[in-house]
Amino acid sequence: MEVRPVDGTDDLSGTTPAFCVDGMLGRLAKWLRILGYDAEFPCSDPSPERIFITMRKSGVRPPASVRRVPPGHVWKPGGILLSADIRLTSHETLHQLRQIFDEAGIRPDPCRFLSRCVVCNVTVRCVTIDRVIDRIPKGVLEITEEFTECPRCGRVYWEGTHPIRIRTRLKEAGLDLE
Ligand SMILES: [Zn+2]
Repeated sequence: MEVRPVDGTDDLSGTTPAFCVDGMLGRLAKWLRILGYDAEFPCSDPSPERIFITMRKSGVRPPASVRRVPPGHVWKPGGILLSADIRLTSHETLHQLRQIFDEAGIRPDPCRFLSRCVVCNVTVRCVTIDRVIDRIPKGVLEITEEFTECPRCGRVYWEGTHPIRIRTRLKEAGLDLE
């Protein structure tokens, strides 16, 4: 599928897709952010610049005025018919991620890993140890001296044991970050 650039300072390469993640897919949005992708969530009104990701909704019946939902579209209870750019086929988050990367024609980029706040969806910035020393658990300085901070919520991120587990899970799903 076509990969559309998104305007804004968050875009590192100019050709990186941004996503709009439908409700009920919060885990997926979190994983996309961990991998450094702009993932708006919950997103029920996608802009044309974003790749809209959804799952087939079962049991949602369009009103009588719409006989059936056209292929590639999803019915919203507000009366809006949305076009799904990527319709997920699995309920398993890592399989969903794999599908998205395949369909968007992208590969996990190690430079993007942990470059975005998983809560706020904004790009984090590098900070010095002095700035975060009061907010990190004891022992972290033995692992790393590189920290980033979310400019919006102030969360501090670093490469610790959690990211190592994330890398392992991604690798198992065929999404190697190396
Ligand atoms: Zn944040």
